[in-house]
Amino acid sequence: MARRGTAYFAQKLAELTDAELSGPTLLAGWSRRHLVAHVGYNAAALCRLMDWAATGQETPMYESTEQRGREIEEGATLSAAALRNLFDHTVARLDQKWRHLPEAAWSAEVRTAQGRVVPASETCWLRTREVWIHAVDLDNGARFGDLPDPVLESLLDDIVGMWRKKELALGLVLQVVGRPMVAVHDDSSPQTTVTGDLAGVVRWAAGRGDIGIDVVGAVTEPPRWL
Ligand code: ZN
Repeated sequence: MARRGTAYFAQKLAELTDAELSGPTLLAGWSRRHLVAHVGYNAAALCRLMDWAATGQETPMYESTEQRGREIEEGATLSAAALRNLFDHTVARLDQKWRHLPEAAWSAEVRTAQGRVVPASETCWLRTREVWIHAVDLDNGARFGDLPDPVLESLLDDIVGMWRKKELALGLVLQVVGRPMVAVHDDSSPQTTVTGDLAGVVRWAAGRGDIGIDVVGAVTEPPRWL
C-alpha cells in the first residue's frame, strides 16, 4: 500500500509543471514545494528509523520540531529539478531499506516523530498514510475516493483512536453508509452525526473538507488528530 501510494503521489507530482510547484496546497501556509520537500524528508526520516531498527543505535526521525520545520523551509527553496530529485532519491532509499531489513529487525522498537514507541514494521503504515493523504494535498486532482478501502479504513481507525486517546470529539458519531455506526466515545451522549461514504467520512475526519457528507449537530469542524 505504501508503494502504491508512492506511485500515486509520483504520478500527481509528474502532472505538475515546474511553475505549478509554487502553487498552494490544501495545507495552510504550504506551497507544493513545501509539501514535496516534506514528503521527501519524511522518507529520509523513516530511513533513520530503519537504520535504528537494523543497528539498535538510536537515530530519531528528526532532531527536533524546529529542525524538521527548518529543513522543510529550506527544501522549499530548492529548484524544481532538485525537489523532484529529492523525492525520487529518498523514495528509492527507503524502499531499499525496507527490502534489506533482516526479518527479526521488523519487530525492533523505534520512536515516531510524535513520540510513540512502535515496531519498525509500523514505518510501512506511517509512509502509506503520508503519501496517499499528501497526494490529495497537492490539490491537482487526487481524491480520497482514489484511496484503496484498506487505507481509508486504517486511516479512520487511526483518527478515531487518536481522538479517543486525547479525549477529543466528544459526542461525535460517524456513520459510514452500509457499515456499523462508530461513536468516538461510547460513554458520551451523541451530539453530532457525520454521515457519508467511506471516502467522504475519512476526508472530513482528516480535516480535508466536507464534500458529499451530511453533518447534523453542533460539531462542524473535526478536531485535529495529528
Ligand atoms: Zn506529512
